[in-house]
Amino acid sequence: MKKHNKIISVFLLLIILFIGCSNQDYPETKETSDTKTTESTINKETTSEKTQADKTQKTTATSTIKEIESEHLGELVIHFLDVGHGDSILIEHGNYSMLIDGGSQNQSSYNYLQNQHIESLDYVIATHPHEDHIGGLIEIINNIKIDKIIMPNVTHTSETFDNFLTSVAFSEAKVLQPHVGDIYDFGDASFTIVAPISDFYENLNNYSIVLRFNHGDNSFLFTGDIEAISELEIVDSNQDVSADVLKISHHGSDTSNTDQFIQAVAPSHAIISCAKDNSYGYPNLEVLQRLRNNNIDIYRTDLQGSIIVYSDGNIISFNQDPNNDLISSTLPTTETLQATTTKAPPVTETQAISETITDQAATGENITDQAATGENIKEQTTQTVTQTSIIPPTDLATETTTTQLVAPYVGNANTGKFHHSYCSSLDQMNPNNKVPFFDRNIAIEQGYVPCKRCNP
Ligand SMILES: [Zn+2]
Ligand SMILES: [Zn+2]
Repeated sequence: MKKHNKIISVFLLLIILFIGCSNQDYPETKETSDTKTTESTINKETTSEKTQADKTQKTTATSTIKEIESEHLGELVIHFLDVGHGDSILIEHGNYSMLIDGGSQNQSSYNYLQNQHIESLDYVIATHPHEDHIGGLIEIINNIKIDKIIMPNVTHTSETFDNFLTSVAFSEAKVLQPHVGDIYDFGDASFTIVAPISDFYENLNNYSIVLRFNHGDNSFLFTGDIEAISELEIVDSNQDVSADVLKISHHGSDTSNTDQFIQAVAPSHAIISCAKDNSYGYPNLEVLQRLRNNNIDIYRTDLQGSIIVYSDGNIISFNQDPNNDLISSTLPTTETLQATTTKAPPVTETQAISETITDQAATGENITDQAATGENIKEQTTQTVTQTSIIPPTDLATETTTTQLVAPYVGNANTGKFHHSYCSSLDQMNPNNKVPFFDRNIAIEQGYVPCKRCNP
């Protein structure tokens, strides 16, 4: 059955790639190229008119939730959904709607769209093939009518991506590839493809589609999970990437969000989409500090839930005030882990294996976001080992005086598996079942089996 599905998926993939390639000169691109002149004129005006006074005015225009419903009818509305670890952004304007990524397979994005009574989408942007971006799109593509899907020309060997491609193939949507400079209409707004600039990257994150959304004098930059390499390419390309609102890349990781990039975008507001108390340590403290050093207001889905932004083409407002506290994510500490070492011994290997299978089926493969890049793993490992213990911080910058070593491996007393301390499985693990290991041999000696996803 599984093999049969795989063959179908590979076949569908070939069809999609073929359609994708033949779409290079799709009518949309031609139609929209006519608007290029007008668009760039608007861009120039927007940039030159963007004085500091303007920006201050926009920042202070932040509204309270009460004012929002009556005040913002007919405006452009951007929802940064709280989907846990992942990205999902819904943009609505008049009769138009589009979705950038769908979070992971937990259906939170699909449920949100249903609550918003979204019955069709003009565009779906699948920024890159990682599970925390395309996992949730599967349900959405299966159930909601979509006109166009824009996705980068790259594949990924994961079951989630196979399932995603199958959904795309069975949908009636046109599949388009991103080309830098292409402009797409969205009512009286539009968006421009900014990246990926190169044809090949080692890190899947750098294939992320970056787009700049324009609405009158307001602009928004969406960055997927790009790493520093793509950011610097964008800066070097001299494209207009200035924006009032920047969707911070890669959930606030310090492998991107470079100073050069942030200064090129020069936003007044930054949105970070990440999970509460995630084990990746996102957002990174340095990134938060960098944003504040540039006087940028920070909004976070992990601390504030879904963030809604309104634009009338001139003034931008939010459904809530920013949260500019320098609160980084808490990683499991030795202290919390040691409290659980007296737990029951691991279950038998057969049980452990059967649980591994259900575990994987239930959680998809969040780990792919990390596992796809050796670079990231190294980075996460170093980060984990040197991460400081965080005691409910209000201002982390001043409260990280006591450093505690975090165990690089964590066993699950219930399943008998052990993981790297950054493995996404830890998010779902009952804290009472966590057993810290500083040496992988000891974990194996005690009968723990390596996790098949993070391969400790
Ligand atoms: Zn991601
Ligand atoms: Zn990613």
